[in-house]
Amino acid sequence: MSIEVKNISKLYGEQKALNNVSFSIEKGEIVGFLGPNGAGKSTMMKIICGYINASQGEVFVNNFDISTHKIDAQKNIGYLPENNPLYLEMYVREYLHFNASIYKIAKEEVEKIIVKVGLSPEAHKKINQLSKGYRQRVGIAAALLHNPEVLILDEPTTGLDPNQLAEIRSLIKEVGKDKTVLFSTHILQEVEAVCDRVILIHHGEIIADKKLKEFTENKEQVIEVEFDFKIEKQFLDNIPHLKSANNVHDTIWELTFDTSKDMRPAVFDFAHDNGLKTLNLTAKNKNLEKLFRELTA
Ligand code: ADP
Repeated sequence: MSIEVKNISKLYGEQKALNNVSFSIEKGEIVGFLGPNGAGKSTMMKIICGYINASQGEVFVNNFDISTHKIDAQKNIGYLPENNPLYLEMYVREYLHFNASIYKIAKEEVEKIIVKVGLSPEAHKKINQLSKGYRQRVGIAAALLHNPEVLILDEPTTGLDPNQLAEIRSLIKEVGKDKTVLFSTHILQEVEAVCDRVILIHHGEIIADKKLKEFTENKEQVIEVEFDFKIEKQFLDNIPHLKSANNVHDTIWELTFDTSKDMRPAVFDFAHDNGLKTLNLTAKNKNLEKLFRELTA
């Protein structure tokens, strides 16, 4: 097991930030740690990395107990803290060499990591000259320098524009091919885009811990469709297996079907047969979304 969290509780004074949290993550998994702001994600990650102590419970990273074998555990962890604190006045290469020297890592490793995270065109610049996306790459590079097996990324995509977001997501996927990754986010779509398992946390407690596909394996299926024209609801009743139709906005409908068969072709055919065009057609992960919406409402 790469990460094992057993019955962790954390009190900040009177306030309970984590309440009896347990989960384990196997080697090679990419897991999304999802929860609204204030749920306890950062606190849990800091405890896993040994930056703060739990009030109760145990954490093992690659079988090293973080409270009794902190240095051994930390050798196995690369950590990107929330807001990615960097020395903005330093040059990218200088900053990474500085980090490498702390860990006594060979200089050649810095160049390899620069290539790996796609920093080559920016590596000669000062960190304060970089876009937010490239700053995140510097933070991820620093976390990867000592070649840890486990990567803990705290809100790695917050504040990125859509292009940067897509790039950092694919970088996480790429580095996740040979690492165990736990990354936190308060954005549901983030989890769906990057990982195959989600741990959902709310008010310091784990609400769900499942493979994403388990959320979709039930019989119900939701499709969001946008037509090029407004239509009446009864029109839609001709689509087989339709359970309900919700007019989200103007020409956008949320259709719920009582089958696990992919109904997107049927919706497409329906539109075509009725002289409509489908401007957008998306299968939605209703269960997780519903659960998350309820929690964050
Ligand atoms: P998240 O990362 O999910 O946004 P946090 O772990 O940062 O959540 O915070 C969990 C709860 O603990 C919040 O209510 C937050 O205000 C509180 N908290 C976090 N850090 C501290 C601290 N150093 N002192 C007191 N309360 C804290």
